[in-house]
Amino acid sequence: MSKYKTEPMKLWKRIKEFKQNHFKEYHEAHKNGRLRFLGATALSISQYTGFENAVIMGSEPFAANIAFWKDFGLKCMEECERRGMTRELCGYSKCVWGAQFLNKNIMPDGTMLSEWGKPDFASSFSLAPCHCKWFQILCENSDTPMYLFDLTKAYPYNDENLIKYMTGQMLDCIEQAEKAVGQPFIDELFIKGVKNEFKSYRTWCDIMILNQTIPAPLDEKTIFSFIVPNLTKAYGDDTVALMQELKEEVQDRVNRGIAAVANEQFRIITDAIPPWPALELYRYLEREYGGVVVGSPYVICLCGSWKFENDKGDLIPTPTPVELGMPLTTREEVARALVWYRSHFSTETPYNIACGEVLHELTLKIAKQWHADGGMLHQNIGCTMQALGSMESRNAVAEAGIPCMNYEGNDADSREIDLTNMKRKFDIFFEANNVKRLTKKAA
Ligand code: SF4
Repeated sequence: MSKYKTEPMKLWKRIKEFKQNHFKEYHEAHKNGRLRFLGATALSISQYTGFENAVIMGSEPFAANIAFWKDFGLKCMEECERRGMTRELCGYSKCVWGAQFLNKNIMPDGTMLSEWGKPDFASSFSLAPCHCKWFQILCENSDTPMYLFDLTKAYPYNDENLIKYMTGQMLDCIEQAEKAVGQPFIDELFIKGVKNEFKSYRTWCDIMILNQTIPAPLDEKTIFSFIVPNLTKAYGDDTVALMQELKEEVQDRVNRGIAAVANEQFRIITDAIPPWPALELYRYLEREYGGVVVGSPYVICLCGSWKFENDKGDLIPTPTPVELGMPLTTREEVARALVWYRSHFSTETPYNIACGEVLHELTLKIAKQWHADGGMLHQNIGCTMQALGSMESRNAVAEAGIPCMNYEGNDADSREIDLTNMKRKFDIFFEANNVKRLTKKAA
């Protein structure tokens, strides 16, 4: 008999369709007389909403989709290596470079495409220096106009100097994009898109807070599918509405005690991008040990904006510029407000290379506030930027009395993922922490 009631998410199919449709819209943009923008999702892709015909794609979901389809991902990486790129280079970059070299791509439903999806304009942020190198090489090889942002320290160092510096770059990027695509940037559209992004991100924070409930209404593997609308289209009216519906459904699950995992007995946090080609490991934890991953700095911050506040220093949603009554009537004001909001713990800013020292505090807060019994932190050798600080995070969580382990994997390169060994490590961790195995171990 199961400990808790469970049921599938009603919005599951619609959110999957949303992703498929957005990728379709991007890939068919030129056929439909529209423009393609490809941008790193930090600080933020909503900067392109002022272009009336824009279809905007986040580069990380674009790469993760290739990595998820591991046979195609592997072909992309091998094509890069055949051209002399080394095996240990970033998997996300090689997935997208490889797609460009092969001039092929793949849809979220696995349909192959006969072109990679060259954008009309692209941009990236130096979360780590290599995040801009990814785009520099991509754009130089494909003759794509680009803008590369120098993102210096983010929260808690996002002072006035940083806001001014980043806002200046955003306004400059918009001007460069205008020249490159030969179309006017319409401020009213930009203001609307950014205000929508604030709403979508704020609702995401509420959804994540609901997952502090025991039993957790959502598990992280499912959450991975729910991050896509905010990551690729937070500026859309449809995303605002979808996030609201998602919040209502999760609230309803909480009210009725519906669990993501019927036998939840050990709540887990992770920290970074998962090994996309091996997501089955999440189902292993659930099935074998009633281990439910309730969140991570990755999924919690990726689509929301957070800060430390109150006398306990808890992680709380950053009030939006609209809630704070910031002026939002000119392009400059809106760009400034957007930079201010998103330079908190938001998207991948917690991993910003200069902010490694606060990442472990964030991880510990999440472990405590989401009532974790343990942590399993991904030492992602596919992205050194995200792996930075992971050891300190493990130590911070473990020293606070919450058992925590690191496991080595790769977000994109399936050749670097040893699932058997990973499972053995998880088995040992659970055994050491007296977590009862729910199934009989195979002989
Ligand atoms: S290693 Fe990480 S930070 Fe560097 S380009 Fe790849 S995904 Fe970006």
